[in-house]
Amino acid sequence: MPAVILKKGKERLIHLKHPWIFSGAIEKIENVKQSGETVVVKSFDGKELALGAISLHSQIAVRIWSFDVNQNIDEDFFSKRIQSAIELRNKIINYNQTNVYRVINSESDLIPGLITDVYRDFAVCQFLSAGAEFWKGKIVEILKQKLKLQNIYERSDTDSRRKENLEERIGVLSGNEPPDLVEVIENNLKFLVDIKSGHKTGFYIDQRDNRKILSDFAKDKSVLNCFSYTGGFSIYAHSSKAKSITNIDSSSTALNILLKNFSLNDYSSDKVENIEGDVFNVLRKFRDERRTFDLVILDPPKFAESASQINKAARGYKDINLLAMKILNPGGFLFTFSCSGHITQELFRKIVDDAAIDSGRSVKIIKQLTQSADHPVLSSFPEGLYLKGLVCEVV
Ligand code: SAH
Repeated sequence: MPAVILKKGKERLIHLKHPWIFSGAIEKIENVKQSGETVVVKSFDGKELALGAISLHSQIAVRIWSFDVNQNIDEDFFSKRIQSAIELRNKIINYNQTNVYRVINSESDLIPGLITDVYRDFAVCQFLSAGAEFWKGKIVEILKQKLKLQNIYERSDTDSRRKENLEERIGVLSGNEPPDLVEVIENNLKFLVDIKSGHKTGFYIDQRDNRKILSDFAKDKSVLNCFSYTGGFSIYAHSSKAKSITNIDSSSTALNILLKNFSLNDYSSDKVENIEGDVFNVLRKFRDERRTFDLVILDPPKFAESASQINKAARGYKDINLLAMKILNPGGFLFTFSCSGHITQELFRKIVDDAAIDSGRSVKIIKQLTQSADHPVLSSFPEGLYLKGLVCEVV
């Protein structure tokens, strides 16, 4: 059987049940014909420790399927793992109110490399690793049967595929091509999602729980939604009767869908203003004009794509947080986020603390936020936590 033999002492990693083995920990690879196939991971002295998928190109050389070496890695194995993932969602998603959710969250659902998001009657998959790619055909069949839907679309257009030497691929895997915009409901609010070319698999599903929390704060407030995308937070603010909503995004495509989303949810146009522009510039302009808001949301894209970008990213986060604090009315609220995995919770806190000092305002953190419950974090895989957020009162 294909095998990976670890360097002396590296079996310790396996005892921590972390699902990755980096190429630097490997002494020798035996009998491997192609990326993605199943290998047995052995200690330096030959003890069998785990089964995983090998990638001959990525720094993450093995992603563990199971720490039980007697397990068969076959269709039945994936069927059970997918079933467990679905059972967790059955406990946390109210499907009558929400038909957009993440059903498989890769490592944290014990299927490294596979993301699956459901949008009404479409499932959208990302096969991020050689192992997930290897099992693609079987996985698609299992998903159709278990999710009781026919339409499966692939959005494997991610950076991680490049690291695995896999080509980007977008297209139908089963059933029908999705329409340009699919209408879904989230907490009974309606949204249009561009599955075929929107960000990620089309929508920021990971912010659902935080959007819900925002709705408790938005009533009668003037709201500024920075990096609004298609208006996730804005529609919640609108539904909880915000006084006004100003959206800023650099993408006209996203703002067009945002407008459509407002129309779907009883739009009243005098309350909404959309600005196509760069958030950094617009916030500076608002500061100079002394324009203020009661509630500001900052949900920027990933500023740190790699560890080498942490310092630059930290400066970016600090800039926008400082500007947001300056334009908040006394007693206003800041919802601030970072989705960069490389920025830790502690560092993000420190950035916001530094911005608070420089702003000259008194800032109280009243809530700490994270990704929604359908984006679980496996206890042995801390990297699974990437979304951090703080709600601050700014006096
Ligand atoms: N909060 C949103 C998701 C935000 S995604 C939701 O809940 O759905 C980040 C958005 O920031 C994208 O729409 C992207 O177009 C936009 N963006 C990226 N850089 C920007 C910049 N410098 N200024 C304005 N918008 C930017």
